[in-house]
Amino acid sequence: MNHNNNIAEIEHIWHPYTQAKTSPGPIKVERATGCKIIDVDGKEYLDMISSWWVNLHGHSHPKITEAIIAQTKKLAHVMFASFTHEPALTLARKLCEILPGNKLSKVFFSDNGTFAVETALKIALQYWYNKGQKNRTRFIAFQNGYHGDGFGAMSVGKTCGFNYVPFENHLFKVDFVPYASTWIDDADIEKREKIALEALKLQIKENGSNTAALIIEPLIQGSGGFHFCRPEFLREVVRLCNESSILVIFDEIMTGFGRTGKMFACEKAGAMPDIICLAKAMSGGFLPLSATITSEEIHELFVADDIYKALIHGTTYSGNPIACAAANASIEVFSEENTLEKISAIEEIHLARIADITQEGSVIKRPRVMGSVAAFNLFDSNSNYSAKVGQVLRQKFLDHGLLIRPFGNVIHLMPPYCITAAQLNYAYDKIAEVLNSQI
Ligand SMILES: *Cc1c(COP(=O)(O)O)cnc(C)c1O
Repeated sequence: MNHNNNIAEIEHIWHPYTQAKTSPGPIKVERATGCKIIDVDGKEYLDMISSWWVNLHGHSHPKITEAIIAQTKKLAHVMFASFTHEPALTLARKLCEILPGNKLSKVFFSDNGTFAVETALKIALQYWYNKGQKNRTRFIAFQNGYHGDGFGAMSVGKTCGFNYVPFENHLFKVDFVPYASTWIDDADIEKREKIALEALKLQIKENGSNTAALIIEPLIQGSGGFHFCRPEFLREVVRLCNESSILVIFDEIMTGFGRTGKMFACEKAGAMPDIICLAKAMSGGFLPLSATITSEEIHELFVADDIYKALIHGTTYSGNPIACAAANASIEVFSEENTLEKISAIEEIHLARIADITQEGSVIKRPRVMGSVAAFNLFDSNSNYSAKVGQVLRQKFLDHGLLIRPFGNVIHLMPPYCITAAQLNYAYDKIAEVLNSQI
């Protein structure tokens, strides 16, 4: 099956996460609007995964489009050391306002999620270094966690299921503990949480005083197989770290900006980190932009006469004004369009339709729903990125006009918030049809 719409230039492009030999050629897209992606032949696809979890309010949302155009005419870019500008100042203030509490108050801008994580890890290490506790260099991370594709991010995401084997000798050592994964009608979660927390306690007991930070995807682990945990679990993880002065990093690169039903997972869970990483949907899905936000207490350790106490680190496009303008417009849309209400309407449809398709004898196992995110496994096997069924299904869904990218046998839905009830129900009808046909 080849989609490549006769693309002559294809030979010059190396696509991400793609085996060029076995993948069908890419679909050449002409435009996208709302929840629809339209290819050069006029075929429409419903974007059920927000184009890799970046889109929020719909493709080509007019308010964000206008904000970008207006900003481009004023100031496209200026270096972000020695200079600042209104879009970045406004965005930093807004982010600190919409984050719960007032603990997180210093915003470091970069361009993508991986770099936001690398920044968080470096801040954590240098925080302890500047404090004179140079022994605090270990990290705790969670099994199946994913944090990006840089070397630091791969080190803390080593067990996500991606193939990091060729790089293994160059990854640093990380202490992994279990994530207490749960689902709808899960009878054993308390037992599983206890086991996971015991492992964390043991880890802290043995190495806590040498540990710089713990990193976790709060409430939902994304790329590692859409594992959900309960707020209770997250709160206990944070409490245990606080008790031992281990910094807590929340990677909200996927969960941020409403996915879980609240603006941020930390708000939903009632648990606050010392450092938070935001990216993906921050600009509404228009431009690359990320942030690493810390408490004032952490930032203070970097403020001194000595230049080497500073964080000598950054990206050239840090704080890009156009991307910040897009993010400011996107945040305004949340209140203008009552977006959180739209998300709870999506959640209701997810719950009803998932219940529908998860009947006795169904191939669907471990259904889970939170906010605009729904996920389930096919069959009882553990998630495995390379599982063949995923590739077969991806193709079948595309044939039915749905953009859905299974991770192996794990299917997730995360539509833009502008999706209508009719569109979402249509998607579930087609999913049921595909799963009921032979797979
Ligand atoms: C996507 C993702 C990243 C990496 O972000 P990029 O912008 O792709 O570098 C990191 N952490 C989580 C939880 C993610 O979902």
